[in-house]
Amino acid sequence: MATPKKRRGRSHPTIKEQVVFWNKIDIRSNNDCWPWRRYRNRDGYGSTGFMGRKGRLAHRIAYLLWHGHVGRNKFVCHTCDNPACCNPLHLFAGSPRDNQLDSVAKGRRPCQQGEANNNHMLTENDVRIIRTMRRDGCSLEMIANKFDTTTGHVSRIALGQAWSHSYEN
Ligand SMILES: [Zn+2]
Repeated sequence: MATPKKRRGRSHPTIKEQVVFWNKIDIRSNNDCWPWRRYRNRDGYGSTGFMGRKGRLAHRIAYLLWHGHVGRNKFVCHTCDNPACCNPLHLFAGSPRDNQLDSVAKGRRPCQQGEANNNHMLTENDVRIIRTMRRDGCSLEMIANKFDTTTGHVSRIALGQAWSHSYEN
């Protein structure tokens, strides 16, 4: 049994840890997505060791380093369609209770290119992102707004009642 006293007490990364972290990101202009260049998890999110802990979400660390903190019980969500993106300007902290519609609307799908520009048509990839966002604690309203669909539809997708052929769990 681990005793609480043995926990790592450091709350701030060293400069070196920060440099190493940002070097794993393809840093582009402010408006572009900044893709994570290393390991990505099953859902496409960058995953990395940081400050002695393994498997941390890269976009969450990017948000943390840029903004100084992620609020308690908050989840870091993307305003773009790109789970691997670590551009702090494409990230915001949200919770199921938060109403972040504004920031989502402002940053609406800036990464989207070409293909599925029909707002009423979700792609398989959208469905994966929707399920991941739900698991990350994003609200139905926020997701529905982001994908131009209804909260009911988002809920059915998240529960596997819609798009069940691509439901994996
Ligand atoms: Zn992005």
